[in-house]
Amino acid sequence: ATPTALMVGTGRGAQLGILIKGPEVLESTRRVDTVVLDKTGTITTGRMTLQEVYVAADTDEKQVLRLAGALEHASEHPIAQAVAAGAEMGVPPLERSREWGSTGPLLAVAGFENVAGLGVRGTVDGHEVLVGRTRLLDEAGVALPDELAALKTRAEAEGRTAVAVAWDGVARGVVTVADAVKETSAEAVRELRTLGLTPVLLTGDNRTVAETVARRVGIDEAFVFAEVLPQDKVEVIRRLQAEGRAVAMVGDGVNDAAALAVADLGLAMGTGTDAAIEAGDLTLVRGDLRVAADAIRLSRKTLATIK
Ligand code: ADP
Ligand code: MG
Repeated sequence: ATPTALMVGTGRGAQLGILIKGPEVLESTRRVDTVVLDKTGTITTGRMTLQEVYVAADTDEKQVLRLAGALEHASEHPIAQAVAAGAEMGVPPLERSREWGSTGPLLAVAGFENVAGLGVRGTVDGHEVLVGRTRLLDEAGVALPDELAALKTRAEAEGRTAVAVAWDGVARGVVTVADAVKETSAEAVRELRTLGLTPVLLTGDNRTVAETVARRVGIDEAFVFAEVLPQDKVEVIRRLQAEGRAVAMVGDGVNDAAALAVADLGLAMGTGTDAAIEAGDLTLVRGDLRVAADAIRLSRKTLATIK
């Protein structure tokens, strides 16, 4: 290969907002036929806001938000930031929630633990609190009552992410958060298809939420991998590769880093975490998914020049 052409490609990439680890990276994109997209922070903005607080009978809404908010304050997850901010500022009255304001001063947390892909736990105000997926509660032997489970399912069917709140061995509530699909995501998926690539959605989030987002941006239901634990994202990439696909992965989170490294081509959102940027071969500086298509187009052009 002529190093000059690769260097030119690298320079052109910088102009487009693509940082390339090394000129040889452009070669890896040649065979790519499948693009795996993370959901939160990649297809969506990742800036979530608290939407609703549902509670079990005889449970105070503010107490649910106060304890969950204190615990989530210690986590960097986009869901956690939305819950913590909601607890601090209160949220405007919404159709399905009663009105509430700030839950007051932030409570201290002891023994905070982040359970990757499932949620968080810790002691707040003398209570053993869990916030996260139903599976996090299941693993602690805590059942979500039918009434709360039904509200959770409905919120998810409408595209919101719902997490359960439990303390002292009892499920007390469900809080919902939502973030918006980026304006550019649907167009980006169309462009990737035009380049002959198969778009795939890969997320730790709930299946219903994942399918709602997939429908909005134009990804086929057959190519939605949901409720995938961070350590299993790598397995999904390997499985696609075992089918003979050359896989590009686009992600932003700590939970995407291993998958970015295993993919034939790793594209990190410049708006994402350092772990993702370090693991990727390319960085999309502005976090605009359309630039992923630009990167593939650029590398094809650069390599055509070399031929
Ligand atoms: P994604 O792949 O969409 O970036 P994650 O793997 O980070 O998602 O999280 C998967 C799921 O685990 C979330 O949708 C949520 O239900 C739960 N979860 C993870 N971290 C937290 C947290 N700090 N608070 C509440 N729920 C969480
Ligand atoms: Mg993410």
